[in-house]
Amino acid sequence: MPSVCVFGAQWGDEGKGKIIDRMARDAEVVVRYQGGANAGHTVVVGGEKYVLHLVPSGILHPGKINAIGAGVALDPLALLGEIEGLEQRGVVIGASNLRVAANAHVIFEHHKRIDQAGERWRGVGRIGTTGRGIGPCYADKASRTGLRVADLLDPVRCRERLRAALAEKNALLTQVHGEQALDLEQSLERYSTLGKRLQSYVGDVGAELRGLWRAGRKILFEGAQGAMLDLDHGTYPFVTSSNTGANGISSGAGVPPRAIERVLGIAKAYCTRVGEGPFPSEELGPIGEKIRSQGNEYGATTGRPRRCGWLDLVALRYALDLNGADGWIMTNLDVLSGFDTVKVGVAYRAGNSRWTEFSSEMPSLEQVQVEWQEFPGWREPIDHLRRFEDLPQAARDYVEWVERASEVPIVMLSIGPDRDQVIPRAGHGLFASQPGPVVAPGRALV
Ligand code: GDP
Repeated sequence: MPSVCVFGAQWGDEGKGKIIDRMARDAEVVVRYQGGANAGHTVVVGGEKYVLHLVPSGILHPGKINAIGAGVALDPLALLGEIEGLEQRGVVIGASNLRVAANAHVIFEHHKRIDQAGERWRGVGRIGTTGRGIGPCYADKASRTGLRVADLLDPVRCRERLRAALAEKNALLTQVHGEQALDLEQSLERYSTLGKRLQSYVGDVGAELRGLWRAGRKILFEGAQGAMLDLDHGTYPFVTSSNTGANGISSGAGVPPRAIERVLGIAKAYCTRVGEGPFPSEELGPIGEKIRSQGNEYGATTGRPRRCGWLDLVALRYALDLNGADGWIMTNLDVLSGFDTVKVGVAYRAGNSRWTEFSSEMPSLEQVQVEWQEFPGWREPIDHLRRFEDLPQAARDYVEWVERASEVPIVMLSIGPDRDQVIPRAGHGLFASQPGPVVAPGRALV
């Protein structure tokens, strides 16, 4: 049965939105299964830019079912704002094309306040969160003190659980952070109203998805953020608060693990990272500046400048391996036009040790030095090209070398923000119904 997962194989912002939007054309169902409104997929359709935070990218294609699973931390204010914004631009949204899991956890105002106050409290040791309450919402979920979407629709239960939650959160806000307490009645009024506005979309999304999967419908699971930000397998503690890859789908969407048949990673031809945390291949000087300005590397949600550097093959191989990727898509290759030399980080070194494979037993990534492989660059713009053979020789050599070293086939190149700015690679389908090549077993060292 045809289903495919698309995940970020770096530190997020890999250009997943555009690829997912492209693939949504062939999908019947598009599912968000983790993360919150901190993710921002940017999709450019006919020169018009859409930034999607919570609504799955299938919404821009008529006739698709778009589902938000239980694993998403749902800010009702953000979701309703996004729905309204899309409707104003002519996108038709209703209960038949947008489904929201009744068991998704809700982000309240107190989560946002605690998120921001917590970052201030931590000072230099801050995590670099977007302050949208996502981490604190997931923390309450794990503590069994959170409220779910269904709770917003049950006035008695909502009052009971919100009263208990606010008693504790207000103590934290006032006594630890010196902030004002939040009023229970105001919060109740506000969130019950938001719940009512969401009601028509709410249902048992897990059951609906399992039914669609059994019926053989084409499902696209869209990951947010990236593998290196995975809560368990990323660069903890500088990670996001969910499982970002194929590993998060089963729990986050409510489908069996075998519902995931094809897994595609997305990675830029270089690397970026937002917020704090180790970034071994970062370029702090003019090279990083040049990548940032050529790639317009500023956050879709926050506008924050992204940290930029060369492709980190150690991290990429790990991300592809962790998620069992059977193909990947290299995005933003166009951004590398105009460099004399293009570099790839092929190993990490610390003291006498050398790593070509990412390992949770490595020392802190802040302490490692990167070993580079250099390639001749290319001068000419490539964003108008549509065939691999037409790329400059140096660009082709770069792509083919990286593909070999990654040990996973590159199934498509993206060479600009627009839907159509792609170069498909011969013989590689994107959906499970178009089988991709078998991945070579073994993991030879570069
Ligand atoms: P996502 O979170 O992974 O969807 O990534 P973002 O949408 O935050 O960031 C990707 C940015 O790069 C957006 O502004 C896209 O329009 C843009 N983009 C996507 N693919 C390409 C590409 O191949 N080349 C260039 N230059 N920009 C791209």
